[in-house]
Amino acid sequence: MRILIVEDEPDLRRQIASALGDAGFVVDEAPDGEEGHFLGDSENYDAVVLDLGLPRLDGVSVLEKWRSAGKVMPVLVLTARDRWSDKVSGLNAGADDYLTKPFYTEELIARVRALVRRAAGHASATLECGDLQVDTRASRVTVRGEPVKLTSHEYRVLAYMMHHRDRVISRSELIEHIYDQDFDRDSNTIEVFVGRLRKKIGQERIQTERGLGYRIIDPAVTPYSPEGSA
Ligand code: CA
Repeated sequence: MRILIVEDEPDLRRQIASALGDAGFVVDEAPDGEEGHFLGDSENYDAVVLDLGLPRLDGVSVLEKWRSAGKVMPVLVLTARDRWSDKVSGLNAGADDYLTKPFYTEELIARVRALVRRAAGHASATLECGDLQVDTRASRVTVRGEPVKLTSHEYRVLAYMMHHRDRVISRSELIEHIYDQDFDRDSNTIEVFVGRLRKKIGQERIQTERGLGYRIIDPAVTPYSPEGSA
């Protein structure tokens, strides 16, 4: 799950980025409205944290431009204290949620998780596929109730597939959502991560759809086929 943070206060931006990173998200940062607008327009994010008071281009304009261009990613806006009119402008411009400064980082993380989940159509914080469970609050994975230890990249691949478990995910889509913009994106590494995940959670839980990508399946319901089900 890849998040964009647009915030001009460097300390606050770093603090949010590091907390989101610890929570298992990949994070891109923009220090002003122009760069933020460009990134949100050209990349695919699972959610955006957008400050409204920004240099070069204000947050409400950034959001309006994204929405009029058809970008539908969930956006949480950050507003200054006692500026209730900012919240209204933010929501009117297409924001999905807002937080008033100062805020607790834990609350921001919880709200971002909820936005990402709802955008993918899930109400519960625990994502399940048969006896495979991903608790997105604790970044915890269990199979038949037994904890499975994953690296951060393996967790990101699994969490993304679990959020979108009703469909096939292509390698390029996975790459877009598990790496930040500066990472050397090599599609072969995705196969390596998927291979390791299969060893840890069970070969039969990730179906390869030849030429299309991967899909999380419940082997008790959908029989695993090494050649793909297509
Ligand atoms: Ca600001």
